Amino acid sequence: MPKTIQTTIQCVQCRQPIRATIQSVIDPAENPQAKIALLGGNINMVQCPNCGAPNTVLAPILYHDASKELLLSYVPMELGLPKDAQEKAIGELMRDVTSSLPQGGFKAYLLQPRQALTMQGLIEQVLQADGVTPEMMKDQRDRVKLVETFMQSPPDLLPQLVQQHDAKIDAQFIQTMTLVIQQLLGEGREQVAEQVAYIQNQIVELSTFGKQLMEQSQAQEAVIAEVADAVNALGQGANRADFLQLAISYNGDEQRLQALVGLIRPVFDYTFFEEMTAYIGQAPADDRADLEKLRDALAQLTAMIDQQAQAALQEAVGLLRVIVASPNPDEVIQANLPMIDNTFLQVLSANIQEVTRRGDINASAKLKDVYNRIVAALQASMPPELQFINQLLNAPNEDEVRSLISQHASEFGASLLGAIDAVEQQIAGQGDPAVMQRFDFVRREATQALA
Ligand SMILES: [Zn+2]
Repeated sequence: MPKTIQTTIQCVQCRQPIRATIQSVIDPAENPQAKIALLGGNINMVQCPNCGAPNTVLAPILYHDASKELLLSYVPMELGLPKDAQEKAIGELMRDVTSSLPQGGFKAYLLQPRQALTMQGLIEQVLQADGVTPEMMKDQRDRVKLVETFMQSPPDLLPQLVQQHDAKIDAQFIQTMTLVIQQLLGEGREQVAEQVAYIQNQIVELSTFGKQLMEQSQAQEAVIAEVADAVNALGQGANRADFLQLAISYNGDEQRLQALVGLIRPVFDYTFFEEMTAYIGQAPADDRADLEKLRDALAQLTAMIDQQAQAALQEAVGLLRVIVASPNPDEVIQANLPMIDNTFLQVLSANIQEVTRRGDINASAKLKDVYNRIVAALQASMPPELQFINQLLNAPNEDEVRSLISQHASEFGASLLGAIDAVEQQIAGQGDPAVMQRFDFVRREATQALA
């Protein structure tokens, strides 16, 4: 069992006592999260529930990974323990490790742990055992340094700096920036995180790599739009055979096939593949090999899309947990607004339904509170015109709509009508007659008021 110790420390910032759980034996086979925290430099870090400040608890650590025959010990120098006390502390942790070994599990490497003198040294030895070479670590350190250079640069020199380091800006560099942002958020430094996110956006816009990335994603969007048109052209009554013909027309075109499966994943179910197999059986012999290739490609793409959906789902579940556990949910919501998408909202409402079904009133109230905060944050992040239209659509009656428009329409001017057009395009397909009726009324009144 991974050994944890409960202790009480004093918050470095507000001086209140905090309960803390210390991981003293880290075994990635039993607690992969602890390894991730260790590599992220967050091991034995607790956030103060009173003031939110991060507190690092200094404690001896024994790292054990039996699959790699790796046993590392680390005693923080800051503890100022004399040598025999260090050995005693590690010896106790060693007993926990050896006593929980399976029978016959004792091997020579367990006799003497390798000592790491610093936390950085411990992290590097764990990474090396994972096949991360010293060169790779150096490259990564260089990337982090470059991120720091960007962070310290005055904003007006940013374009020049990007040009200077253009060759070093690649996917790994952008990813490193994202890691830095996550780390800052984890430390409760939202404002700095926001600044780095802004710089990252600028770098993507200005660098050669970023421009290529944008072109690729634009090309991808164009393909998706084209495939979406083709799907829509099949009409409401389209069946599996129609979709099969469409897929056949894209055979060999990886991008279009991927767009097709992404757009209408539910079509590619078990029955579809059964029907496709029957179709291949009746096809001219010369066509069969190509069709079989297409079937394999479609099966692979469906599996890939399902995996992505699963990953997005897990990310959403993780974010929801962080928001619920945070002493300051609004800040977490603000910092993660781009992640709050349809998937996230689906996860949230599924959770609300589940706790309500179970009759857990506390959890249900907590989640509904989170829901209200998110709706408020999403509305606040909308352009003012959209907020106003939202208000009009939710007004209790038409008199109220008329009075709101006569009071506020002139503040927006013609841009209000543009926003009304944009919203209409979005909701036109949903076909709720009451909403559409209200919408027509809003448009008439706004046009009149602004004429
Ligand atoms: Zn505190």
